[in-house]
Amino acid sequence: MGPDKDRRARNIAGDPYETLLQVKVTKYQVKAEPGIFGKVAAYFGTVEAQGRGTLHLHMLIWLKDTLTSAELLELLKSDLFRDKMKTFIKANMRAYCPGLESAESVKAIRSDQAVGFTRPPHLDSPTYAQDVRTLKLNLARTLQVHTCKIRRCLQFNKYGQLVCKRKAPWPTSNKDFVDETCQWGPKRLYVFVNGWNPWITIYARCNNNCKLLTNGRDMKNLSFYVTSYAAKKQGRNFNMSAILAEGYTYHMKYPRAKYVDSLRDMQQLLIFRLVHTINREQALSGSTVILYLMGWGDVYHSHQYTAAFWSLFVSALTKVFLEVYDR
Ligand SMILES: [Zn+2]
Repeated sequence: MGPDKDRRARNIAGDPYETLLQVKVTKYQVKAEPGIFGKVAAYFGTVEAQGRGTLHLHMLIWLKDTLTSAELLELLKSDLFRDKMKTFIKANMRAYCPGLESAESVKAIRSDQAVGFTRPPHLDSPTYAQDVRTLKLNLARTLQVHTCKIRRCLQFNKYGQLVCKRKAPWPTSNKDFVDETCQWGPKRLYVFVNGWNPWITIYARCNNNCKLLTNGRDMKNLSFYVTSYAAKKQGRNFNMSAILAEGYTYHMKYPRAKYVDSLRDMQQLLIFRLVHTINREQALSGSTVILYLMGWGDVYHSHQYTAAFWSLFVSALTKVFLEVYDR
């Protein structure tokens, strides 16, 4: 079961991982210094509970001085710029380290489930570089090698084929690459190694995935995914309409004629039964239940927010882009 909760609390308190992105949030201000990706201009993150209740974080990070996609496409014609971008990919998005060449080489390394409870290497250690290499391989082997499983990641697509929702197996490449059309990828030799950020891996010691968003389509898809959780999209584990349909079926099957002598009674009974069906059938993770029981709400904010009204947004937009208004 790993160390006790006192030891874990001490490990967490003693870890410097919160400094990785170098963002400091005060009540009215967000300050950024150069961190692992450079300077952060903005970020948005949501903590999700999976069906089994484990919490995980999705985060979008905008970097300062990022090029527009038009500027990026122009610069990608230059070898020098592509080399710079490959250096960035190599520093932040990895899918290979010596030992992760094939199914056989991966199997030869023991998967160490306790690795998440270890401490990160100490910066003053005389063997720091070697410590980092050893821990990185251990972490990547244990946390980043994906195994497709039915009911976990394998789902039927519209053609009736079982496919992995994480899109494994992933394409291989014998080096980090980016081409003129901004197709990019990390070096990967074994198709079931999921990419990771080395510093998040070392300092948070949890599985993670890091993606470079270089075009509008990827950006739109990921923004939609991340924000849909905050907007409480209906997931398949808690499909309210199916639950309500079940309650309604019960209601129709047992009319209880002797209690219902008016339309209003009938309506009340229906609503009463539907609410009970939701209470009984809706799947909630343990952590979400605790939030409700403690009266903490199911959302927390790290910042102060100001309401932005849609009408103001549209009028500002049409002032700049007259043609939007014409349409
Ligand atoms: Zn899979």
